[in-house]
Amino acid sequence: MRIVDSHCHLDFDSFENDIDAVVERAREAGLCRMVTICTKVSAFDRVLAVAERYDDVFCSVGVHPHEAGSEGDVSLDRLMELARHPKVVGIGESGLDYYYDNSPVEAQKASFRTHIAAARETGLPLIVHSRDADSDMADMLEEGARDGAYPGVLHCFTAGPELAARAVAIGFYVSLAGIITFKSAESIRETVRDVPMDRLLVETDSPYLAPVPMRGKRNEPAYTRHTNRVLAEVKGVSEAEMAEVTTENFLRLFSKVPPPDVSSGAVV
Ligand SMILES: [Zn+2]
Ligand SMILES: [Zn+2]
Repeated sequence: MRIVDSHCHLDFDSFENDIDAVVERAREAGLCRMVTICTKVSAFDRVLAVAERYDDVFCSVGVHPHEAGSEGDVSLDRLMELARHPKVVGIGESGLDYYYDNSPVEAQKASFRTHIAAARETGLPLIVHSRDADSDMADMLEEGARDGAYPGVLHCFTAGPELAARAVAIGFYVSLAGIITFKSAESIRETVRDVPMDRLLVETDSPYLAPVPMRGKRNEPAYTRHTNRVLAEVKGVSEAEMAEVTTENFLRLFSKVPPPDVSSGAVV
């Protein structure tokens, strides 16, 4: 079974002491690709260093909405320049977070517009973080698409059916994290039933939000399989089929990531 963690944060301090073991456990669990996600351009070197250390780990470049105030305006040119590195396969994570009040809404929106432009210019998928911002997010995604198409994914999906439908309508993918395994997440599972199979991805968002039965522990890429299992139940397919479909979807969206060698099962 080949599986992909489309969104983790392996550069965070909680992985500092055992990153090699974390990556090894992921491989043993069938993970063939992982994308470690940038949250601050000022920390990009650290993120890139993790991706450069492992053949099967790739990274993104961008500014998390929580950091949109403190990181200042990152220019389109700067994002595009950093995105040229062969290990950089996505733009973000960027977006809107109205749940935490960590940076002003206008700063979040300005930063998000720059990231949309970077995704359009580079052709790399935009990794979108959206929390309690469904209606503004859908408006901004569509506004961006009017200036020209760009690929992207709603990561750690917790939104309602309207944002899901409007994002899918402009070609977006939807990535499910451990939250989908929580008992309380019935409304998310219900929304996901209507998302087309060919638009689904899985992720951990580790070190946060470990899926059941690991809930409360530090999350890590190996646990992607628990999310995959629950997603398979929701969609009424086998775990193996869900893993295959989400891996194919990932490779289609993250087109800069070299596909793993299928014939030998080895990671290349
Ligand atoms: Zn996020
Ligand atoms: Zn994240």
